[in-house]
Amino acid sequence: TEEQALEFAVAHEMELDIRREHEPADSIRQIESQTDAPESLVPRSPVVVFMGHVDHGKTSLMDYIRKAHVAKGEAGGITQHIGAYRAPVGDRWVTFLDTPGHAAFTAMRARGAKVTDVAVLVVAADDGVMPQTEEAINHVRAAEVPIVVAINKCDLPQSNPLRVKQQLANLGLQTEEWGGKTICVEVSAVTGANVEKLLEALLLEAEMRELKANPKRDALGTVIEAQLTENFGPVATLLVQNGTLHTGDVVVAGSAYGRVRSLKDEHGRRMKEAGPAVPVRVAGLSQVPVAGDRFYVLDGVSAAKQLAEDNQRQLRQSSLAALRIPRSLEAVFQQMTAAEVRELPLIIKADVQGSVGALRENLEKIAHPEVRVRVIHAGTGGINESDVLLADASNAIILGFNAVPDPTARLLAENRNVSIRQYQIIYDVTDDIRKALEGMLAPRQQENRLGECNVVKTFKISRIGTVAGCMMTDGVINRNARV
Ligand code: GDP
Repeated sequence: TEEQALEFAVAHEMELDIRREHEPADSIRQIESQTDAPESLVPRSPVVVFMGHVDHGKTSLMDYIRKAHVAKGEAGGITQHIGAYRAPVGDRWVTFLDTPGHAAFTAMRARGAKVTDVAVLVVAADDGVMPQTEEAINHVRAAEVPIVVAINKCDLPQSNPLRVKQQLANLGLQTEEWGGKTICVEVSAVTGANVEKLLEALLLEAEMRELKANPKRDALGTVIEAQLTENFGPVATLLVQNGTLHTGDVVVAGSAYGRVRSLKDEHGRRMKEAGPAVPVRVAGLSQVPVAGDRFYVLDGVSAAKQLAEDNQRQLRQSSLAALRIPRSLEAVFQQMTAAEVRELPLIIKADVQGSVGALRENLEKIAHPEVRVRVIHAGTGGINESDVLLADASNAIILGFNAVPDPTARLLAENRNVSIRQYQIIYDVTDDIRKALEGMLAPRQQENRLGECNVVKTFKISRIGTVAGCMMTDGVINRNARV
């Protein structure tokens, strides 16, 4: 790595010899690449997330399931919000992630976490497919997660599930009744109608995917959420994805580490251990980890501490590196060439639907012998945070056509190195992308900071305008430079 090269350079200069005792990151690579013998694998519950347009009933459905199932299973137990919960369905279980919304989903994916097995797309039967429904579909597809559709609010007299099915079919989600592959269940979060059927559909989808894990190995998984509590210090909800987590295990998650002091379920009850697909509240960490961090069980506290410190340093370095190297179209292309990637993922945002269609069509038509353009998301309106998250998670470039990023999106794009290119002419878009694919993109105009000065006083002079008296504070000022 760059860091090691620097260490060696310094050591060489000082005529020292560097020998690394051990590389902590190696142990993680080892854990991640450790495969389980087929006979050690047993079926595990699916991990499910609800997505869809605002007000279509995600929260209501989750609440209904929590009340009807979780409470039923626990004989009136009070559930706490821990970011995830399990519900019994027959003699099986389904694990729900409690963070609806595709922004949260994609933010996790951007951090390298793949936690969801099935996404439930909630569409209100009285409202139909809306922009965020489409956005959710694209986010889920980009993550290659299967979709089960819940057509909600079917209790309403003005509900029109048929229209929803048609709209979904137009987006490539053909319901099974019409010969497609998508399971659509008509439900109501208010009356609870067919919610049972929805849960069974989730189990079915899980069965088809043969979700399995090995409960006999050390636990690994993902941080779902975490916070600092007054009584217990840093507390995190971990989703065990493989293996079994026990009290007393030494855990590392990002820059947090520690010995698991207590494990609790969503009812606040102590557990001795948590197996695959079980969300669990963990106390005993040194600090608050970040949602989306992977967690691992290690042999000793000192190894965990060192790894956590390494992660911390790496985080600092990568954020510094991110500030230096923008992920431009050129850079993405170079990366693609180096990695022999054959696909350029794009996100299109435009002012009107007509332009979205025209852009998509023109871009997907670009013929290149080796690289294919793939539009992973397209929509109208400004470029928002969730577009940037999706681009980050999918290594995509955002093309704005008469569409600008909002301040949050702009800031996030800068932090995450996501390239946003803005255009006013369709030809310019296709031309740029074609040239990028051909590896001959003309250098863009770039701003070079020359210097900085403070305006001390301004003078108005007729026919010339305003003249500023300045004091240079940094660099130089040239006659032809722009200010
Ligand atoms: P979310 O934004 O997707 O989480 O939507 P909510 O769960 O907050 O629901 C939005 C509104 O729709 C609330 O006023 C709910 O009471 C209502 N709602 C949700 N599901 C149903 C349903 O099945 N039938 C009816 N009639 N109303 C529903």
